[in-house]
Amino acid sequence: MDAAALRAVYARLLEAFGEQDWWPAQTAFEVMIGAILTQNTAWTNVERALERLRSRIPLDAESILALDPLELADALRPSGYFNVKSQRVRAFCEAYLQAGGHGGLDALATPELRARLLAIKGIGPETADDILLYAFDRPVFVVDAYTRRIFARLGLLAGGETYEGIRRAFEQALGPDVPMLKEYHALIVSQGKEVCRTRAACERCALRRTCAAAASSPSDSSTSSRTAQRRRRGTTASEETP
Ligand code: SF4
Repeated sequence: MDAAALRAVYARLLEAFGEQDWWPAQTAFEVMIGAILTQNTAWTNVERALERLRSRIPLDAESILALDPLELADALRPSGYFNVKSQRVRAFCEAYLQAGGHGGLDALATPELRARLLAIKGIGPETADDILLYAFDRPVFVVDAYTRRIFARLGLLAGGETYEGIRRAFEQALGPDVPMLKEYHALIVSQGKEVCRTRAACERCALRRTCAAAASSPSDSSTSSRTAQRRRRGTTASEETP
């Protein structure tokens, strides 16, 4: 991964969107619960679910586990998949307390802490890395669907990389700069939600000047993204399946 190119993208996004001040939460524990609830839903729905939960109990692991599971699921209803998510939140709270809470987990080295989080049912790499970065201030890069889409269109990802491959490449290129890693992921989310959407708004994008997809077809980014990938592979459209 080209470190200079990644830093240039960061600088342009920061200039375009300003500091994002993530993660929007009152406590580290709330970051962790929010990271679980935000799976497959918009953050506004998570905020409503957290507010409902907070109106019933203090937001800590003991209180969540003491709450009737049906009532927990009902409180989390706005976040969608609330039965599954209530089970995931409970599983996380049990593991959290078994590990000695925030202090116990924070005493672990990052690879061990990551493995501990990934061992909890319902916590995948993206959720684990959200928690590592925003609740424990660990130098990890969070890879999400926006990251894949934006950097493939920019021509900096080929499109078939694994989660771990992308994460390591970004971490090696950017270094262990926790504030920057936090800001970068937040900026990517803003870029993915507001500009580089499925149908990209290239005409108002801060990255347009160096974007492979925009250069190949400014008016159709989904087509141009595929075109950029074909160029890198040296293939033509007729050699690919739709
Ligand atoms: S120029 Fe278009 S395709 Fe490229 S990053 Fe910006 S919005 Fe996405």
